Amino acid sequence: MAKSSKFSSYGRSLAGVLFFSLFIFSGPLQGHDGLNLGSYGIVIHGGSSSATPQDHDPENTAARLAMISEALSAGHAILKEGGSSLDAVETAINILEDSPLFNAGRGAISNNEGVHELDSSIMEGADLNAGAVAGVQHIKNPISAARLVMEESPHVLLVGEGAERFARKHGHEPVSQEYFLREPVSKKTSYYEGESENMEPSERVFGTVGAVALDRAGNLAAGTSTGGYPGKMPGRVGDSPIIGAGTFADNRTCAVSATGHGEYFMRFLVTHDISAMMEYGGVSLNEAADEVIMKKLVKTGGSGGIIAIDRDGNVAMPYNTHSMYRGYAGSDGKVVTIIFKDD
Ligand code: ASP
Repeated sequence: MAKSSKFSSYGRSLAGVLFFSLFIFSGPLQGHDGLNLGSYGIVIHGGSSSATPQDHDPENTAARLAMISEALSAGHAILKEGGSSLDAVETAINILEDSPLFNAGRGAISNNEGVHELDSSIMEGADLNAGAVAGVQHIKNPISAARLVMEESPHVLLVGEGAERFARKHGHEPVSQEYFLREPVSKKTSYYEGESENMEPSERVFGTVGAVALDRAGNLAAGTSTGGYPGKMPGRVGDSPIIGAGTFADNRTCAVSATGHGEYFMRFLVTHDISAMMEYGGVSLNEAADEVIMKKLVKTGGSGGIIAIDRDGNVAMPYNTHSMYRGYAGSDGKVVTIIFKDD
């Protein structure tokens, strides 16, 4: 009998809400207010996390920040040469997907039956073109498959087998499930089983990756890639491949990528909400991002954060959890990586 049958769906949802709620903080934790990257730049996140500074293994943290730094440098080099924000976003995310250190691509966690199902989306701000894949099990770089959907199909979102066939047709060599395998599924990671209290507040739990960029031509782009979160049910799709929830870009406003408890980001269409506040309300990126992440989401129990850049190079990186791996590189060429609020 399936283990999940022990719990009603209400109980499972409650366990999920409690799990994520434990890590929500009120009050602005973002730091780096007023950051501006100049005429071009890239911002990356490596997931928001429940982990406090004491929970972090310094070696692991350093390795992740080094990877983010590498991804920032690669994206920055493209932008510096006059390349597109779309190329910068895809290249940066590919690097993080190929690393086992993040919950995306190679390091993607599995669902509660031990199967890796990956989600990703990408969007360009010039024409609001977008592409996404969800629930894919054999695609090495879901962000590139999402871009393929955007550029080579008449659709925005392809899921499962159809997405995989489409990617194969366009030259993506499929990978086996073993490629993703990082560790066996254990009860410890199954918070849907009501065992969240036994879960280590580990950095591993999160680790979704995302990037936003502004290029020299003034074009914005955003992308997000993830394995979801531990204990997710087979077939569960989160916010990361949903345009307007996990990813959004509009040249008139901003480019945003989210990380956190996806169900909340989907219900509140978080990334689009931030853009809409700027578009209809005329508020600044920082005000809009703060309102949505630090007020609206906190009130409802949604934990996580976003990275965003607007058409003038202003950056916002609010999060309502303990930490969020993040970094940026702008036209001054400086590459900065951060994890805690006081960094
Ligand atoms: N937002 C992702 C999801 O819900 C998880 C994360 O960002 O940690 O699938």
